[in-house]
Amino acid sequence: MKDTAAVIDESAESGSTDFIRSIVAEDVATNKYGGRVHTRFPPEPNGYLHIGHAKSICLNFGVAADFGGLCNLRFDDTNPTKEEAEYVESMVEDIRWLGFDWGDRLFYASDYFEQLYQYAVQLIKAGKAYVCDLSGDEIREYRGTLTEPGRDSPYRTRSVEENLDLFQRMRAGEFEDGARVLRAKIDMASLNVIMRDPVMYRILRATHHRRGDEWCIYPMYDFAHCLSDSLEGITHSICTLEFENNRPLYDWFLDELEVYHPQQIEFARLNLSYTVMSKRKLLELVEGGYVSGWDDPRMPTLSGLRRRGYTPEAIRELCNITGVAKSNSVVDISMLEYCVRKDLNLRAPRVMGVLRPFRVVLDNYPEGQVEEVEMVNNPEDPGMGTRKVPFSRVLYIEREDFREDPPPKYFRLAPGREVRLRYAYFITCVDVVKDESTGEVVELHCTYDPATRGGSSPDGRKVRGTLHWVSVAHSLPAEVRLYDRLLLSPAPGAGREGSDFKADLNPDSLETLTSCRVEPSLAGAAAGSRYQFERQGYFCVDSVDSAEGALVFNRTVPLRDTWAKIEKAQRQARAKR
Ligand code: ATP
Ligand code: MG
Repeated sequence: MKDTAAVIDESAESGSTDFIRSIVAEDVATNKYGGRVHTRFPPEPNGYLHIGHAKSICLNFGVAADFGGLCNLRFDDTNPTKEEAEYVESMVEDIRWLGFDWGDRLFYASDYFEQLYQYAVQLIKAGKAYVCDLSGDEIREYRGTLTEPGRDSPYRTRSVEENLDLFQRMRAGEFEDGARVLRAKIDMASLNVIMRDPVMYRILRATHHRRGDEWCIYPMYDFAHCLSDSLEGITHSICTLEFENNRPLYDWFLDELEVYHPQQIEFARLNLSYTVMSKRKLLELVEGGYVSGWDDPRMPTLSGLRRRGYTPEAIRELCNITGVAKSNSVVDISMLEYCVRKDLNLRAPRVMGVLRPFRVVLDNYPEGQVEEVEMVNNPEDPGMGTRKVPFSRVLYIEREDFREDPPPKYFRLAPGREVRLRYAYFITCVDVVKDESTGEVVELHCTYDPATRGGSSPDGRKVRGTLHWVSVAHSLPAEVRLYDRLLLSPAPGAGREGSDFKADLNPDSLETLTSCRVEPSLAGAAAGSRYQFERQGYFCVDSVDSAEGALVFNRTVPLRDTWAKIEKAQRQARAKR
């Protein structure tokens, strides 16, 4: 695993090009496809898109854009038992949200079923495909292993006429599911196991989300994918490394059929630490109720990240700075957090939000008086202007911003100590009110210095702590959801029996705070809008549960918390002593 700064430096050094863009540039220079560049993003609609898919989306659409080419969106919907229209719709929405446009080129492999069938017939006629009656288990047994060649199926020598007849009857629904398959006739002794007469079609009675019950035979991925690419005139078929061994088969089908031949290029998938990224595993989390749905803000899905407050810009930035590699590696999840902090720092308005409210009464502040305190909306961007926030005698500060017995280097409020209320006044703690039964401090009494209006002292007096606050009477109630890692292991499931990643689930990945208070400017904040709560991190109005008068915020990421770091360092120092 590389650290954030190192990876960012590397990518800055390497410039904006990568090995795939080099290949494409070369092909353009040599006029290989008449100078055309045409890519596609081909998801299977069997789940929601995750951040790994974003990598492929950015690459496919990005390469096309860089070379003035086109990129198609194609649903690779050849497996009706796992695919649903809901998934298609979510994928369309997520790719648009990421910022990419396929124009009028939205395609479905299922639109090619008739054409694919005809290609299969063509291969049968050429003696290159046969109907096989072996069961699935038998096919596996006959296939051999990495070290042993396979054996020919007894059905391999069927005549062209018999194969044509049987395949037509497979389509007509004369045989049970699984009774027969159509296989390519290649080489059972090939060193590449994938080339040992791979299955091209299977019999499967399942209702397809677009074709209904029209078909009871379905093409396999390897057969459908290369031909879909060919039919669409794709030039560079970019896929992930695990398809490297399938490339000879991709080429074989296109060569045998003598059709237009795109080239497959493999790159390393994006892996993130502390994250599972297979739709199958994510589906397990959804179906098992471990999360609230595909768009749970703890999910690495694009819909989850969006709900959490991630911006498309931050996700594209992650895809960009992690580069395009030829070998697999794991990117630290902190890189993603770095990208979103960097983006939101520039764009998110600052607001006051108190997560765990603690009452402070300013004894010398006139009862009933309210002042409008001017606050900067974003110090990074003066163009974002200022706003007025009401200040009064009774305030909430953060519970953790007061310690009765402050440890060393704790610069916030404590008995007798003076701090700054951001943009407002210096206050000094003069008294504490305790719960009689528990002895716990429940309220503070402070005095304010009227000469420090705006948050600075005319006599040059310094304070070391600056706190955020809201006025009790003016603030709005809010619910805030704090998230921790969904999985506790950097490589979830690794080293566990059956690599059960669910054993690594973090029982404390969600903390819901229901008595938070936010400044009144947040009344009616739109779903999905993003803010920096001063000193607390970046927050996004929840798009599902937030409603007029009942604000719900998701914390996207905390700001780096220096106090937590100091405490950790102190704990470690104590442990050494
Ligand atoms: P999953 O196992 O998560 O379902 P998949 O590869 O089976 O992934 P597809 O819907 O077939 O999912 O993927 C569409 C495209 O996205 C493919 O070209 C695939 O290679 C690419 N892709 C999937 N996961 C990643 C990843 N982690 N990094 C980069 N590209 C990915
Ligand atoms: Mg898949």
